[in-house]
Amino acid sequence: MHVLILGGTSEASALAALIEKCAGINATFSLAGRTQNPSLPGIRHRVGGFGGADGLAQWLREQRVSALVDATHPFARVMPWNAAKAAHETGIPLLRLTRPGWQAGAGDDWRFVNDHAAAMEMLGQKRRRVFLTVGRLEIPAYVRSPQHFYLVRTIDPVEMKPLPDAQWLIARGPFTPEGEAALMRDHSIDVLITKDSGGSATGAKLSAARALGIPVILIRRPERPESESVTNAHAAMEWILRVHGTSL
Ligand code: NAP
Repeated sequence: MHVLILGGTSEASALAALIEKCAGINATFSLAGRTQNPSLPGIRHRVGGFGGADGLAQWLREQRVSALVDATHPFARVMPWNAAKAAHETGIPLLRLTRPGWQAGAGDDWRFVNDHAAAMEMLGQKRRRVFLTVGRLEIPAYVRSPQHFYLVRTIDPVEMKPLPDAQWLIARGPFTPEGEAALMRDHSIDVLITKDSGGSATGAKLSAARALGIPVILIRRPERPESESVTNAHAAMEWILRVHGTSL
C-alpha cells in the first residue's frame, strides 16, 4: 500500500510519525515548499507542487498510490480542491485530516468575518493597535488600512514590509498564554486579528486576549469540498489501516 500525505500542518507530521512506526505501510509526505527550514518527517518526502489536479492525478497513478490524505492547512485554498478532483478521477480513496476550528468560551469577545477586507472594515477609521497573526502572504492586504499600528508575527521573515507603522516579529509556536499576554500588554494591543486555524500551538493568544479583555477578529475558514474527514492523526491512521485491510 502506498499513501500520499499532503502536509504542511502539525497533524500531517503527527500522522507521518505514526506511519513511520507501522511496518507494511509505504507513504510519501508532500510539502508545497513555502516554509524555510520546514520540519521534515522520518518517512519519504517530496517538496513542490504537482502541476494542478491533473498533475496530481498523474502522480497518483504513476506512483501507484492507493490512499490519499489531504492534511493541508484549513486555510489552504487550492490543494483540497485539487486533491478531491484527482481522487475522483483516479478512484483513489481520499480522507481530509483537519483540526477543528477554535470555540469561543465565556469571556471571549470574538467577531467572525469572511475575509481581510471585512476585518479591516471592522477595525474602522480610528487608529487601533493591532496584533496581526494572519500569515506572511496575507499581510499586504492591510496596506489599505495604514492608519493603524500593527504588531505582525510570522514564522518566516517578511521581505517586503508594506505597512507604514508596524513592528515585525518572527517566531514559531507553541506559545504560552502568559507570554502572549505579556507581548500584547507590552505593545498596548487593543485588537487581535487571526485566522480560525484551530489547534493548540497558536491558541494561547486567544486565552491571552480573553484575560486582557481584548476583542478578536477571526477570519472564517474557506469552503471545502465534500469528503470523509477526521480531526486527528490517530483517526487518520485508523482510516489508512481500514483502507489497507480492504486493499489486501
Ligand atoms: P494552496 O493555496 O492550497 O496551494 C497552492 C499550490 O501549492 C497548490 O496548487 C499546489 O501546487 C501547491 N501545494 C499546496 N500544498 C501542497 C503540498 N502539501 N504538497 C505539494 N504541493 C502543494 O496552499 P497554500 O495556502 O499556498 O499553502 C501551501 C502549504 O502551506 C500547504 O501545504 C498548507 O498546508 C501550508 N500552510 C498553509 C497555511 C495557510 O494559511 N494558507 C498556513 C500554514 C501552512 P500544484 O497545483 O502545482 O500542485
